[in-house]
Amino acid sequence: MTLHNKYPTAHYRALDAAHHVHPFSDTRALNAEGSRIIVKGEGVWLTDSDGNRILDGMAGLWCVNIGHGRAEVAEAVQRQMLELSYYNTFFKTSHPPAIELAALLAEIAPARFNRVFFTGSGSEANDTVLRLVRTYWATLGKPDKQVIVARRNAYHGSTVAGASLGGMGPMHKQGGLPIPGIHHIAQPYWFGEGGEMSRDEFGLWAARELEKAIDAIGEDKIAAFIAEPIQGAGGVVIPPDTYWPEVARICREREILFVSDEVICGFGRLGRWFGSEYFGTEPDLMPIAKGLSSGYLPIGGVMISDKVAAVLEETGDFNHGFTYSAHPVCCAAAIANLEIIRRDKLVERVADDIGPYLRERWLKLGDHPLVGEARMTGLVGALELVPAKPSRRRFEGDGKVGLKCRDFSFRNGLVMRAVGDTMIISPPLVISHEEADELVRLAARTLDMTH
Ligand code: PLP
Repeated sequence: MTLHNKYPTAHYRALDAAHHVHPFSDTRALNAEGSRIIVKGEGVWLTDSDGNRILDGMAGLWCVNIGHGRAEVAEAVQRQMLELSYYNTFFKTSHPPAIELAALLAEIAPARFNRVFFTGSGSEANDTVLRLVRTYWATLGKPDKQVIVARRNAYHGSTVAGASLGGMGPMHKQGGLPIPGIHHIAQPYWFGEGGEMSRDEFGLWAARELEKAIDAIGEDKIAAFIAEPIQGAGGVVIPPDTYWPEVARICREREILFVSDEVICGFGRLGRWFGSEYFGTEPDLMPIAKGLSSGYLPIGGVMISDKVAAVLEETGDFNHGFTYSAHPVCCAAAIANLEIIRRDKLVERVADDIGPYLRERWLKLGDHPLVGEARMTGLVGALELVPAKPSRRRFEGDGKVGLKCRDFSFRNGLVMRAVGDTMIISPPLVISHEEADELVRLAARTLDMTH
């Protein structure tokens, strides 16, 4: 293969270290080692600047659902750039890509979702959620309903509101977060926090933490509960079966809005268009991003149910929006992406074919002496690394084993991510059976090297 790099790897690394501040990175440690420079993507495969092939077990950052390098998206983007490279939908204007994408999303989403507010990212979508839910209650004459209940170890983005809604301690420590009016409750993480309870008991307990919070704070003060169907960045926390039905009951019975953060689970990851459909919950709002455009261009949004939309119509001006809300070129990329997902039946493929295929093989990694639990739903999975089975006791040392495992994985030609000592994968939905076999083979080799 010919690589069209301008510079050799060492030169790129030096420039990167000198000029580029990376997200979520320890700059000094990164620069001492140097970044891996990714130069090409095709299907589930990446190529680095030295020509090594790497299986992208994380679909970029949980987003490249249709796989890398699809010409149809590039062509749609080029067409749109030449037609109308930028306009917005502020001040009584609109444009065809925004309108067509909004209509397409209404078609794909559950029947009660007929409207979408566009943003540039998932974080902006959750900033929008914060303002929407508070505005909703204010419009209904209940301005005291302000508090948003969220979960510890959740990830809802990196903006001030997104990181505050999220429950990541290390993020809260920097910049004085969370902002007021956000209350975090337990996450349904049985492996890490279930103690002596059975999975089902723990699922009910974690769900009822929501009810306890509502009682303690007061229903008249609570605007919404926000949660990811499966916590992704928190370590692929797949809740016990008892969790979501109980949360759904509580949300039905109490006067609060329910927000399902579909940024990772949306667009086929769990074998349904939306993760809330997989778990049978009925959200009022759904923040979306990532798989909406498969990461080809940045775009996010909030799907708004008819119930919320009807109230917002009474609000008057909703004083919120971004220069790149409904960016026409990003909308064109999203339309092309959704058309591929529909045409190639990728959602059905995850439910009936590649999802069960990979899951069966992935769960077998649970037999490895280093793995305390292997879990997978749809095409998102985790391995819990432990010093001794069958105990759920974790390694000392703050995720050092996970980092070692991640580095071996990369060296072996597989992107797996480490969240503490939990290894996670979320491959493109187009991964073939052979590539799924290869993923599991590389993961097993990585575990052997780490052990
Ligand atoms: N919500 C969830 C569940 C996410 O996983 C993420 C990103 O990983 C976000 C929101 C934030 O999205 P973005 O990085 O596009 O701002």
